[in-house]
Amino acid sequence: EAVTSSLLYLDGVSVSFDGFKALNSLSLVIAPGEMRAIIGPNGAGKTTMMDVVTGKTRPDEGTVLFRGQDDLTRLDETDIAELGIGRKFQRPTVFESHTVWDNLELALKAPRGPFATLLHRTSGEERERIDDLLRTIRLSEKREELAANLSHGQKQWLEIGMLLAQAPKLLLVDEPAAGMTDSETEQTAILLKEIARTQSVVVVEHDMDFVRDLGVKVTVLHEGSVLAEGSLDHVSADPRVVEVYLGR
Ligand code: ADP
Repeated sequence: EAVTSSLLYLDGVSVSFDGFKALNSLSLVIAPGEMRAIIGPNGAGKTTMMDVVTGKTRPDEGTVLFRGQDDLTRLDETDIAELGIGRKFQRPTVFESHTVWDNLELALKAPRGPFATLLHRTSGEERERIDDLLRTIRLSEKREELAANLSHGQKQWLEIGMLLAQAPKLLLVDEPAAGMTDSETEQTAILLKEIARTQSVVVVEHDMDFVRDLGVKVTVLHEGSVLAEGSLDHVSADPRVVEVYLGR
């Protein structure tokens, strides 16, 4: 039952690199509409977990199901993206020499193929969608600005907007607050909470203040499996979690 009602279901997932277990029988269930924060010390397996979900890394064993049905271990990265799993890497990858608007327009049309932007005129509906995205990512005022001129935080938001343009069902976000100013970090927490109203979000994050701002259920990874799960207060009161973070 947990399987069929889940958006993302990992069970007993293991990945080894030269005999070293980056994931060690990892089990994790994300419900539809949920936002989850994944934390854990360096080397805990957070990146490997996202690589497995997006098809970049194939697990040695275990089950990875999307919406209780699609076996992600049998699909390649393109198929998985098409199912509606979007990933935001730590570094923003926007088209610097294009405007904010054009970046969103390109992202919106990308699924139509490489020539779509040249051949297909942007419809009124698509313009409205871009306007909506600009409001969501708080860049309406910057629509004509070249992406190169945005701050680091604004570039991150633009890339989140570009992912949203493709209407993912699940968004994986890797350390969105890294390198941001305090005020950008706060804005990003608000932005993600807004996004989480319409799609599920998994956030990998180091910044505990940011995780606190998100106010969502937290999964602590350690040595490739789940060490603790629950509210941030709950997991930070767990002596094993304290030891992993402070005891070394
Ligand atoms: P995290 O993202 O939590 O810091 P990772 O998933 O990046 O952790 O890494 C987990 C462990 O697996 C680390 O010890 C890392 O050195 C190792 N690892 C990750 N990717 C590879 C790889 N491609 N080859 C060898 N070892 C790897």
